Amino acid sequence: MSPINAKLQAVRARIEAASHATNAGSRRIRPVTLIAVSKTQPAALVRDAFAAGQRVFGENYVQEAVAKQAELADLAIEWHFIGPIQSNKTRLIAGHFDWVHGVERMKVAEMLSRHRGESHPGDPLNVLVQVNVSGEATKRGVVPAEAAELVRAAASLANIRMRGLMTLIENVTDPEAQRAQFRMLRELFDRIRAAGTELDTLSMGMTQDFEVAIAEGATLVRIGTALFGARTPKEAA
Ligand SMILES: *Cc1c(COP(=O)(O)O)cnc(C)c1O
Repeated sequence: MSPINAKLQAVRARIEAASHATNAGSRRIRPVTLIAVSKTQPAALVRDAFAAGQRVFGENYVQEAVAKQAELADLAIEWHFIGPIQSNKTRLIAGHFDWVHGVERMKVAEMLSRHRGESHPGDPLNVLVQVNVSGEATKRGVVPAEAAELVRAAASLANIRMRGLMTLIENVTDPEAQRAQFRMLRELFDRIRAAGTELDTLSMGMTQDFEVAIAEGATLVRIGTALFGARTPKEAA
């Protein structure tokens, strides 16, 4: 068994256990999907993970991702863009990804929709609105009070399929402090749905905290380190 195969199986088992070991199952509206975060990792490693059954991958840097995608064009991968979105990259992002997680401004949503209509007419882009639940100045995302309005407005765009919310929580190791932040996102998600906007996806949880996120209702977890090992420092930039 390849090393990545063993790691994938271990992470999938932990996801499965977390899905069952909590009572979040009754609240979760979809099974948990694992996004293998392959930023800074070579295309060959993505190919190994694909051979081990992984189909969904996440990337943060547009140029790096597009080059990798070209090398992997023979594989039926579902690509998620999970990095910060610069408006001058919206054409590439809309053209090269199936999902975009970090939408935090209506202007960016409009540009993604327009470009998506050009590159993929009739095939809308799956979009998540990023929410800053920790309130840290360094975190991207809309403040919780503005999330519902952005979700509703972006959901009305022709080439956007609004799927839900995403967050990056404050980097804390205390599970209860993690839980409070994930719960805040899930409660916001529940309120937006109760008000009539159809959403089905909560993207929250990474290597350090994904089991807590699943307990709080995550449907997408974004995991890099636990699958591919520590990244080289380039990533810190
Ligand atoms: C890098 C990254 C991840 C993966 O983080 P790990 O700690 O390596 O699992 C998840 N989400 C986002 C938005 C990231 O940038």
